[in-house]
Amino acid sequence: MIPYDAHAHSLFSYDADPAATLDAVCESAIAKGITHLALTDHYDVNAVLDGIYTYDVSAAKTAVEEAKEKYGNLLTLSWGIELGSATQYPEEAEAFLKKYKFETVVGSTHYMTGCDDFAYWDMKNISHEDFTEAWLLYLAELTRMCELGHSDILAHITYPVRYFIRAGRQFDLSFCRDELADLLTTAIDHGMLLEVNTSGYRQGMGGPLPEASVIALYKDLGGRLLSIGSDAHTPTDIGANYKEAEDLLRSLGMNKIAFIQNHSILTHTI
Ligand SMILES: [Zn+2]
Ligand SMILES: [Zn+2]
Repeated sequence: MIPYDAHAHSLFSYDADPAATLDAVCESAIAKGITHLALTDHYDVNAVLDGIYTYDVSAAKTAVEEAKEKYGNLLTLSWGIELGSATQYPEEAEAFLKKYKFETVVGSTHYMTGCDDFAYWDMKNISHEDFTEAWLLYLAELTRMCELGHSDILAHITYPVRYFIRAGRQFDLSFCRDELADLLTTAIDHGMLLEVNTSGYRQGMGGPLPEASVIALYKDLGGRLLSIGSDAHTPTDIGANYKEAEDLLRSLGMNKIAFIQNHSILTHTI
């Protein structure tokens, strides 16, 4: 089993299970054989600055420091953050990261510029054409996020597609290989890891985010630095669906998984 989980939420995330205390999250990780865990609670810069939700960074940091003390002989816990929408507030994002000295920064976009979180879009009724247009704008925004260089890991790049598919729609990514290649090349050039996010197995996609064809494209482009994360929002989902993900990665010839610890890279061979 892959012993890394580089994307996990606790009760400090606005949308996580209130039972996801640091104790519950760490104990679940240890029980599942995870040796390296990054706690990456939500900080969408736009959402926090615009008052959509709050994140108590001081309380989270104290809780992580206490958990490091308590579980340090069994688990390497990384003080991380899921930094969202950094493209919309780049200076504020940079100041936030500098102030709190995170050890793992997962970069994502839930809110494209001027839009609500994709989780709340009416994916049943949006036209295929409008969704395609939004998807291409989103990929361009993710590419700009990589260029900013704030994040260690490029997270769940097919996030909008997850909601489109969950609404019973189909979306074939083969038409946008050039745009995906631009994004992945930018991530590679900036030394970022590509995340294999296993939440897709639990959320109706039948595979990880991104899908196998995108991981294969990343490999074709020379990418070798894969990160893995459950994106758990409950203690029980820590390390979830790793067996399926491991089989998939092996079938693609991607046998190395990396973990960021204090901005340096550890690797595990599967
Ligand atoms: Zn996310
Ligand atoms: Zn997340």
